[in-house]
Amino acid sequence: MTFDIVTIFPAMIEQPLAAGVLGRAIERGLLTVKVRDLRDFTTDRHRVVDDVPYGGGPGMVLKPDPIFRALDAIEAERGRPSAVILTSPQGARFTQADAKRLSRVETIVVLCGRYEGVDERVRERVTEEVSIGDYVLTGGELPALVILDAVARYVPGVVGDEDSVTHDSFSRGLLDFPQFTRPPVIRSARLSAEPDSERELTVPDVLLSGNHAEIRRWRKREALRRTLERRPDLLAGAKLDEEEVEILRALQDDRMAGTQKVGE
Ligand code: SAM
Repeated sequence: MTFDIVTIFPAMIEQPLAAGVLGRAIERGLLTVKVRDLRDFTTDRHRVVDDVPYGGGPGMVLKPDPIFRALDAIEAERGRPSAVILTSPQGARFTQADAKRLSRVETIVVLCGRYEGVDERVRERVTEEVSIGDYVLTGGELPALVILDAVARYVPGVVGDEDSVTHDSFSRGLLDFPQFTRPPVIRSARLSAEPDSERELTVPDVLLSGNHAEIRRWRKREALRRTLERRPDLLAGAKLDEEEVEILRALQDDRMAGTQKVGE
């Protein structure tokens, strides 16, 4: 799978990609990422990429012609890209489902906006406009990295254990269950509200029991409990098996009973 990222700050993309899971995936040829400096597609001596907005107002706007030339160059090299993504706070909110969908396409171009954004006419060459959340960043480089990272995790071989991707939060419409690792007990005075006393933080017994059926059920219950507490909106679209439906019903009954007690 190939990503072409068009930006005026190539270093903001290249440096984070030098390390970690993505760095390894690139090294192993599972992903090709080419960062294109928008200034290379200008034709003037000063390599100008921005201009004042028509109609006045604050800030600058990225000019359309260097972006069109960058897209033409990418298309000449790779053929028509499967997706041309414009990063924009005005786009559709990026989700795990989008990451999975995009991981199945061959060539993705990501355009990083800056300043007040890009000239509106650029949208004619864009297949989707993507926001990573309801806040405004200074540029599209961090969103491009977020999109690339989330999509790459679905590319076979990128994450060592593919099972971990299918269990991740959002993959099935549920948040992930809590994770623990060694040591089994942590003792610390700092965790205690009482002076001169220690508090123990332990790992749930079931995880130390070696009983895999019990562990599997505990994890299902905890994933459902977390989702119910923190993101109940996700449950409407979650794909639950029979056991999970039964666990969820029990958790909801418990909550109802708890709520009634408080209100009694
Ligand atoms: N004036 C624009 C607006 O209000 O929609 C904001 C421009 S922002 C300062 C500059 C660039 O950062 C945008 O063109 C876009 O590429 C990127 N950007 C900022 N916030 C983003 C977000 N939440 N999701 C995706 N891209 C974002």
